[in-house]
Amino acid sequence: MKITANKVAVIHYSVSTSDDTLIDSSYDHEPLPVIFGSGYLIPGLEEALDGHEVGDKFEVTVPPEKGYGERFDDYVQTVPKEMFADIEDLDVGAQLRATTDEGEQTVIVVDMTEDTITVDGNHPLSGMDLKFDVEVLEVRDATADELEHGHVHGEGGCGHSH
Ligand code: ZN
Repeated sequence: MKITANKVAVIHYSVSTSDDTLIDSSYDHEPLPVIFGSGYLIPGLEEALDGHEVGDKFEVTVPPEKGYGERFDDYVQTVPKEMFADIEDLDVGAQLRATTDEGEQTVIVVDMTEDTITVDGNHPLSGMDLKFDVEVLEVRDATADELEHGHVHGEGGCGHSH
């Protein structure tokens, strides 16, 4: 069975930067089940998975425009620290939810002074060529429930409250 729209694909993957720095690997935890074509994966990975079958292993390099987007310098903003006065453990590297002109956004603290804090609203993996090693473990039809919910169910059915 090939991976096509509305199939559930269970994959193992590892992703690294173009200079081979490992970013994340499902081999360290559980394989990733996805409904193919649901938009859960970045476009470059969906394209690469299309038509593959159980047992296939492949490598694909995904450019920013098919991954997490380009980096935008104006997503980096320095603001008065008092804007985040109610947050404990504020430190470089912390992820915050911030309300911006574009709505709720996750930002990462990249610099701090006594009075200011600099946050970066770019996705941490934006602007990078990402190298994926992918292994297809399972391909099956998605159930009607899964398609309706838009996510994969485990053995016990839906683990979410709907
Ligand atoms: Zn569900």
